[in-house]
Amino acid sequence: MKSTADAIIVGAGIMGCAIAHALAERGMRDIVVVERDLIGRGATADAAGGVRQQFSTATNVELAKYSVRVWERFTETYGVDISLRQQGYLFLLAEPAEEPVFRRNLELQNRLGVPSRWVTPDEIAALNPYVVRNDLIGGTFCPEDGWCDTYQATIGYAQAARRLGVEIVEETPVIGIRVDGARVRGVETTAGAISAPIVVVCAGPYTRQVGAMAGVDLPVDPYRRMSFITEPFDALPQSLPMTIEFATGLYFHPESRGFLFGMANRAEPSGFVKTVDDDWMLATVEALVARAPAFADANILKGWAGFYEVTPDDNPLLGWVGAPEGLAVAAGFSGHGFMQGPAIGACLAELIVDGAAKTVDISAFRPSRFAEGALAQEHNVI
Ligand SMILES: Cc1cc2nc3c(=O)[nH]c(=O)nc-3n(C[C@H](O)[C@H](O)[C@H](O)COP(=O)(O)OP(=O)(O)OC[C@H]3O[C@@H](n4cnc5c(N)ncnc54)[C@H](O)[C@@H]3O)c2cc1C
Repeated sequence: MKSTADAIIVGAGIMGCAIAHALAERGMRDIVVVERDLIGRGATADAAGGVRQQFSTATNVELAKYSVRVWERFTETYGVDISLRQQGYLFLLAEPAEEPVFRRNLELQNRLGVPSRWVTPDEIAALNPYVVRNDLIGGTFCPEDGWCDTYQATIGYAQAARRLGVEIVEETPVIGIRVDGARVRGVETTAGAISAPIVVVCAGPYTRQVGAMAGVDLPVDPYRRMSFITEPFDALPQSLPMTIEFATGLYFHPESRGFLFGMANRAEPSGFVKTVDDDWMLATVEALVARAPAFADANILKGWAGFYEVTPDDNPLLGWVGAPEGLAVAAGFSGHGFMQGPAIGACLAELIVDGAAKTVDISAFRPSRFAEGALAQEHNVI
């Protein structure tokens, strides 16, 4: 492991790997990514792989729109097959109060060039004939949305970064951040110290803990989310879109000749328990069968738990922390981070190398917004 670098990145999830790659592409040579586990085994590995552009904040729409274009070309660009399936995202709405909110969000998305649209219950039937519709007022659909393989995407960025000279050190926790006066000076790891004038915290659900090593409060908290996958079964076709019951956060999409599904337990407090809760699994299955009765015949192959990395406004902390100087953060994506990896890589590299992000204006997500009381609440959180 190098003992000096131009920049150190803490965490080799999608963010750490995408940022390292983008920094190297912009000419920075001495980059070390320090990962306490293995590449892509954090929240990124536990994600449902969803890629969507249907957000309520302009910054998220722009980040997602840029990223979708990269995901579309990822396999040919980086030589790693991410199995992108653009079968659309279908939001199901039952609550009348949600209609004006989603229609406003559609206007925003359309103005920014995203081809999302309102769908009536009859149009929902055409897109997904398997869902119960008697309580639905309508929904929204974007045909460009979809899902892909999060692990392969992360490996793709990691390999491309390594080809450009980035060192990625695995199984090596960062245990301290060196601060000298007003400036960050590097990190301490279990394998020794590395000096660098720039440290980027990409520690996913553990970002608050890593920030504390530099005496900084980064408000990111872990919330358990569980996903399940069925055994292969053909009662529903593999051509269906990602389908989301917005009120409950229940979602399902085709995966490996079966279906991947999950539902957010919004009553569960923050914590680092990473086991599957059998009661919640039962509640999720009941909700799934109530919405799409054909699932009554499916068997569950496996389930797993992971952590959403949640901030007070469900949007990430992006950019320089302020004090100490040289400390940046890209974390707290609140359950919709994987899909934004390409844009976050580009924006953070521009910010660090050129002084400002140009791909997307990320100033609304500046880390200082919480202290300023300028929250940027995202409404479309699953
Ligand atoms: C069940 C579930 C479903 C999801 N579904 C989606 C979805 O459909 N679409 C979507 O876009 N997003 C989804 N997400 C969210 C997505 O997984 C995250 O937003 C994204 O993966 C965050 O990436 P990251 O690189 O910031 O974090 P991570 O992937 O967690 O990477 C952070 C890394 O930092 C490392 N680390 C932490 N502390 C240290 C330390 N002290 N020293 C060294 N390394 C350290 C960790 O080991 C980890 O590898 C989902 C999440 C969950 C849990």
